[in-house]
This record gives sequence, structure tokens and C-alpha cells, in this order.
Amino acid sequence: MAIQTDTIAALSTPPGPGAIGILRLSGPEAASIAETCFKPLGGKGLREHPPRTLVYGDLLDSGGQAIDRVLCTYSLGPSSYTGEDTAEFQCHGSPMVLTLGLEALFAQGARQAMAGDFTRRAFLNGRLDLAQAEAVGDLLGAQSREGARHAAGQLAGALSKRIEDIYSALVDVMAHFHAVLDYPDEDVDPFRLEQLDEELSDQEGELNVLLASCGRAKLLREGVACAIVGRPNAGKSSLLNAMVGWERAIVTDIPGTTRDTVEERCELGGVPLRLIDTAGLRDTADPVEKLGVERSRKAMEEAGLILVLIDSSRPAEEADFALLQEAKKLAPTIRVWTKGDLPTAPIPAVYMELPPCVTVSARTKYLDELCNEISCAFPQDLYWDYGQILTNARQEEAASRAREAVRRAREALRAGVTPDALLTDVEEALSALGELTGRTVREDVTDRIFSKFCVGK
Ligand code: GDP
Repeated sequence: MAIQTDTIAALSTPPGPGAIGILRLSGPEAASIAETCFKPLGGKGLREHPPRTLVYGDLLDSGGQAIDRVLCTYSLGPSSYTGEDTAEFQCHGSPMVLTLGLEALFAQGARQAMAGDFTRRAFLNGRLDLAQAEAVGDLLGAQSREGARHAAGQLAGALSKRIEDIYSALVDVMAHFHAVLDYPDEDVDPFRLEQLDEELSDQEGELNVLLASCGRAKLLREGVACAIVGRPNAGKSSLLNAMVGWERAIVTDIPGTTRDTVEERCELGGVPLRLIDTAGLRDTADPVEKLGVERSRKAMEEAGLILVLIDSSRPAEEADFALLQEAKKLAPTIRVWTKGDLPTAPIPAVYMELPPCVTVSARTKYLDELCNEISCAFPQDLYWDYGQILTNARQEEAASRAREAVRRAREALRAGVTPDALLTDVEEALSALGELTGRTVREDVTDRIFSKFCVGK
């Protein structure tokens, strides 16, 4: 256990007024600082109550004046989030109360916690491994339901367990070759060599499965760039607003209102999307609108999904058809008939062969067909259990290094090289896997990970 000599304190809930605001302490003095700053209503001192119970009383400033009536709890290390003694005050969520409360804790010797300090201590004290600590960050930043479930699974240890299984299988392989090195006169039996190759091949397969999950993780993290395109007045801004659930983009019946691209995140059909509302595509002499039209085309080129909107209440035009053809070449495309609440104009036969078609109405908020089509375009892969995916570039890089090393070890085995050469490769794989869970990670890497957390976490 890494002994920290100082006690940290921070506001752990978002700044600004709220129902509850939580002040948190961790370190050797956490319980005694909390006891000094808190007067339970029953008359007994805080530490006369058992740990991990909620005690009602007054939070006091350094002059003994009550700041707020609060609930306080303390835990004793190692049975706490950080593995150290900790204490928490559940105050009224008043920014002024919380400022005074923090000042009271600082006056008793606590110092302001930096970003991610609590979780870093949890990692240093072995309460969480690095993959779990990263999952805490992913959980806080989750942009979709599926992303939150994966982060919760990873926090519960699903990824760590999978990595540890690979790690331990490779340690077995190492152990065998160490034995061979120790008794160089004995030949390795060919049957045993085959078994070892099989073992290495299984672990290479496991790493392949993990690495194949990176695409899904990226989609969950960044969202699919979804360009909403169509002629002016097709209903693009209205659809964006209906998808995000609030009036994000300006809606008028004056064609050419949206001149720049408007971006907003939402989740539809279980898929996190980065919606990009674009300027209506038409030939225009207006230089500002012209720039907007150029950006629309760029948004289409960079999109992972294109929604081509056509006003179903008006006869479709040649331009709509041309736009659909163009979009299809660039990314998965859905043809969206808008204004489904209005009587429909006849649909030309040529449209029948074009991309899947759905009807929506921004006015009645009818989006069901669109939801279905989007979830079919990006199906949730049931191959990976929640939490068993590599969620960031650091994890992907370490896992692919491990896979390369296992591959090299297999080649060496087949080429009949000496066991010591093969051991170097397996050791490299183990070290890369160790980085994933934090067994063998460098301090600057952990610093970078925790600096992305918020203060108080
Ligand atoms: P954009 O130029 O493609 O962004 O189109 P807008 O979203 O600004 O909409 C153009 C006009 O169509 C506005 O007058 C909207 O109120 C109207 N409109 C958009 N969606 C619907 C819809 O689902 N139903 C009906 N009845 N009108 C709509």
C-alpha cells in the first residue's frame, strides 16, 4: 500500500446550486478533521458512532459556528473507496455553504484535491486496477446507455478478469520454458511444443477478440457523425430538434436559414450520434450561403451516416434523387421522408431502388421508423459482454503490442529457436498486458490518465 501523508478534500458534486452538495476527505487525518468540523446532534462525537453510518448534525467553521445541518459519514482504510480513511459531508447544495465547508476542512489541515486524486489513491492502494480506474472516467463521461453499461462492467472488473486470464496462461508458458532453460540437457518433447503453440494461439485469439472491440468502443465514445442533408425547407433543422428533444436549431419557412453547420449529440435507436444539421443544398449566389453549402458537402464526406431528407408533402425533384445517389457513395445512407403528418405527394418510381426509406414527422415527434433503421445500421454487437471491450487508445495500443509479441513467440517456437529467445517475446507480452491493468505502468502514464478526471473524483 502506498502511504499518503496528506489529507485531501474537495467538492465532489458539480458547482452551482443543487439539492445536495458533497464534500469529501481522504487521508490519514480524514476522520479526525471531520470530527473537529462536525457536531452530531445526539451529543456523541463523530467517531463514537460506528464507521459507514450516516450521522446527523452541524458542519462547523473554524470558529465553531454552524455552517449547515448535514449528514456525515466516515470510513476507515482499507475498507473505503481510496483505501485510506475517508469522510463525507452531505450538505445542502448551496455554493456558499460548500465554500465555507471546504474552508473549514482546509483550516484543519486538509489540502485541495487535484483532478482524479481520489481515484488515483484508490489505484495506488490497490482498490482498483488501472482498467477499472479508467472505467470510472468512462462512466462519468458516458454518452450512451450502452457506453455506461460497458463502463459499469469494466469497473466491476470484467475487462481486468479477461486480461488476467490471458496473463496467467502466458505465465504458465513462461514457467514451462524456464524449466527447459534450467535443465538444458533434456529435449522438449514435440508433443509438448505443439501444446504450447496451441496455448499461445488461444491467447492470440483472445487478444484478437479484444482488439476487434475497439471499433465499437470508438463509436460509443465519439458517436457516429450523422449528416442531415436535403434541399432548403426539407425539414432538417426541425428533425434535428426533434431528435435532440429541444429547440437547438432555428426553424423557419424561409429557405436558406441554416447557413452554417449546427452540431448536437443525441442517442437514437441505442446509437450515440453527433448530428450535423447542414445548410440546404442548392445553387445560390449569396456568398455566405455558398460557404454553408460547401460545409454541407464536407459534412457528408466526413459522415458515418447520412440522412437525406425529402419533403414528402411536395413532389420530389431531380435534385433530391441526385443527392441520394451522391450520399450513397459516401456513407451508409437513410432516405427520410419528412413531414409525414401532411398529405403525401406521389412518389416517383425511381426512388424504389434507393436506400432504405423511413417516414418521420418533426411536428408529431414520430421518429420510430428512423430509430429502427439506425439501430439496424449499427447493431449492438452481442459478442462482447458488458465491460469486456477495450475503451481507449492506450488500451488498444498495449493490447496490440501484447498480440504482436505473442505472434513473434509462436513464430520463434515453430522456427525452433532457443527457449530464451522465445521467453523475451512472452515477457514483452506480459509487460504490455501488465500496462493494461497497471501492474507495470509508468508514472507519467497514470498521471495523464488521472489528470482527465474531475476534481473530487
Ligand atoms: P430546413 O430548411 O430543411 O432546416 O427546414 P426547417 O426545419 O427549417 O423546416 C422548414 C419548414 O417546414 C418550417 O416551416 C417547419 O415548420 C416545417 N416543418 C418541418 N418539419 C415539419 C413536420 O414534420 N411537419 C410539418 N407539418 N411541418 C414541418
